[in-house]
Amino acid sequence: MKVGIMGGTFDPIHNGHLVTAEAVRDSLSLDEVLFIPSARPPHKRDREIISTEHRLAMTILATCFNKHFRVSTIEINRQGYSYAVDTLDTLKNDYEVGTEFYFILGADAALELSTWHNAQELIGKCQFVVATREGTEFNIETVENDFKIKGHIKKIDTPKIEISSTEIRNKVANGRSIRYLVPDSVESYIKKEKLYSKENESYD
Ligand code: ATP
Ligand code: MG
Repeated sequence: MKVGIMGGTFDPIHNGHLVTAEAVRDSLSLDEVLFIPSARPPHKRDREIISTEHRLAMTILATCFNKHFRVSTIEINRQGYSYAVDTLDTLKNDYEVGTEFYFILGADAALELSTWHNAQELIGKCQFVVATREGTEFNIETVENDFKIKGHIKKIDTPKIEISSTEIRNKVANGRSIRYLVPDSVESYIKKEKLYSKENESYD
């Protein structure tokens, strides 16, 4: 069994996340991709993040029609900050022995790997798959040298989709269209719940 792990704030989830996850799944013949919304992202303490319930709901709406995609609440349900290394340990217990885990990251997130909690231990425990992200160059050798570890990181050419959650939030706040940047179901949910508009009161 080969399982992809797609972690993120998903504030909100958008088509860049979905296209990337599907491209990696297809390329590596993964059996499933687990989308794991983070509870309190350690690196995003500086801005308000919409409530966990809304982020989870949108992640489910966006992924439910792909039979290979699943959503995990493992980080949401855990107390304290979300650390990938703890998530991986828990997943290893939940899945059969021998399951291979592939951590999927955009190149921008991969460049920050060295700042992650227990990064060295984490890299040694699984495979990292770095997907193309517009505007970011990622060099495997540099990271392998930093961590003195070989063969745990691979780069995959995924379609370059220049969408970010930041852009979606800004567009909604400014009354601009986000159609086709997020799944229709997510667009409807954002409208219905009045998320990301300026007078919004739905933050944690
Ligand atoms: P924000 O703008 O709030 O930082 P984001 O769009 O970067 O949001 P995150 O939830 O921070 O989304 O990203 C989760 C993961 O998905 C990260 O590994 C990130 O690199 C990756 N990712 C996000 N958007 C894209 C995209 N358009 N193409 C490829 N990877 C992406
Ligand atoms: Mg980001």
